[in-house]
Amino acid sequence: MKVNAINPATEETIGEWEVSDNSAVKGAVKKAQSAFETWSRTDISERIGILGKASVELKKDKSELSTLITKEMGKPISESEGEVEATLGDMAWFLENGKKSLEDEMVDLGGSRGRIAFEPLGVVGAISPWNFPLNNPFYKIMPALISGDTVVWKPSELTSLVGIRIYEIFNRIGLPEGVLNIVLGGEETGKALVASKVDLVSLTGSTATGRDVMRRASKGLKKVVLELGGNDSFIVLNDADLDTTVKRAVRGRFYNCGQVCSADKLFYVEEGIYDEFVRGFKEITETLKVGDPLDRSTDIGPLVSREQRDTLESQVNDSVEIGAKVLVGGKRSGSRGYFYQPTILTGVTKRMRALREETFGPVASVISVKNAKQAVKMTNESPYGLAASVWTKDENKARDIAKLLNVGTVWINKSGEFRAEMPWGGIKDSGMGREFSRYGFLELVNIKSIL
Ligand code: NAD
Repeated sequence: MKVNAINPATEETIGEWEVSDNSAVKGAVKKAQSAFETWSRTDISERIGILGKASVELKKDKSELSTLITKEMGKPISESEGEVEATLGDMAWFLENGKKSLEDEMVDLGGSRGRIAFEPLGVVGAISPWNFPLNNPFYKIMPALISGDTVVWKPSELTSLVGIRIYEIFNRIGLPEGVLNIVLGGEETGKALVASKVDLVSLTGSTATGRDVMRRASKGLKKVVLELGGNDSFIVLNDADLDTTVKRAVRGRFYNCGQVCSADKLFYVEEGIYDEFVRGFKEITETLKVGDPLDRSTDIGPLVSREQRDTLESQVNDSVEIGAKVLVGGKRSGSRGYFYQPTILTGVTKRMRALREETFGPVASVISVKNAKQAVKMTNESPYGLAASVWTKDENKARDIAKLLNVGTVWINKSGEFRAEMPWGGIKDSGMGREFSRYGFLELVNIKSIL
């Protein structure tokens, strides 16, 4: 079956791709299993040597790929270029640190010695979302291939054209047949991949998808790494530097049209600074330009799809109906394309969808709190546990708060900073397992004890 790829800014068809059916998924997994026999025994330095060429090829294609990302999912062109740059940075870290991360460890057992070996695990079924259609696949595929695993990868159905271009890059570097395979499609193709003979499923996606993947993977007792949704708190204390905090609040919420798992979504602000914070947040938000994402003066492009726009709109409308106040925005924008105005809501309470659910778009909820303790309590009451940030000049206090927050990452006086050196992942409804850093590599191998 053929599917059209739609530009979310213009609603025009920009290409088409073919859905992989069940037998195509099975065939891809079979190829990956057979390639595993050789690839897993290839010396890691040789694997890294081959994969290093992917960086060179990606650099060559930066401009063309950035344009395609913007056309297919709608992020402003400078953000697409930034995504390619970030990916090149991550790749450099994986290539430089893969071998070190997987070196055998010797253990003194008192009279004898033990060896801990990190051996390839098998075939990884990798499933990606559309919000970082280039970066996410690369940080799933590269560490798996460096570790000696082979991969069957499914990009999001909303960014299949970018997926096909990424696959072409890997095809140009002389990877042996079957080491990396691509299958295309949505939920059904994803389910077929989870049910296939893969050894591990690595998913980045929504919490609902994570639950389904885990349930289906449990039939074959397959390992899962799940990077799921988030509803991150941005906790502002009375002594925060207002200028930096407000600027970051705007960027942290509206970057990528607000479609980031770890975007700053809920702004818990101490009473003493609340009015000033809200004034500053509103002032900058009102200057943001919504429009054609290929135009370099645009700050915010469209949402990725009609469905995402409609969900966001209903989350706002339902919240407003039971008392939330729209301070800025709160409406669709333009007559064509899936645009929504950058929006700030106040008066948001726990009963409202804007607080309870992940809002995956340009909607900020600002909530006044009595003190840090209340902000921590409200953060920890959330079913999600991805990340949070704390804004204060008192670093000791910030570190104490960081310890109390039930999340995978805490930023202090910053947010949204991803470093390949640092593990990334959540707890609770935000998932399990880690990507990036040595901990990310360790998810992808059989940790073998030899005594
Ligand atoms: P999604 O769950 O709809 O889709 C993610 C991927 O899973 C897609 O490739 C999709 O085709 C596939 N899929 C859907 N149903 C499936 C099923 N039952 N079995 C197997 N595969 C299935 O998510 P999305 O809309 O693409 O992405 C947005 C979500 O991803 C948000 O919730 C966001 O927070 C989350 N996300 C998390 C991280 C993280 O690192 N934690 C990063 C980016 C996005």
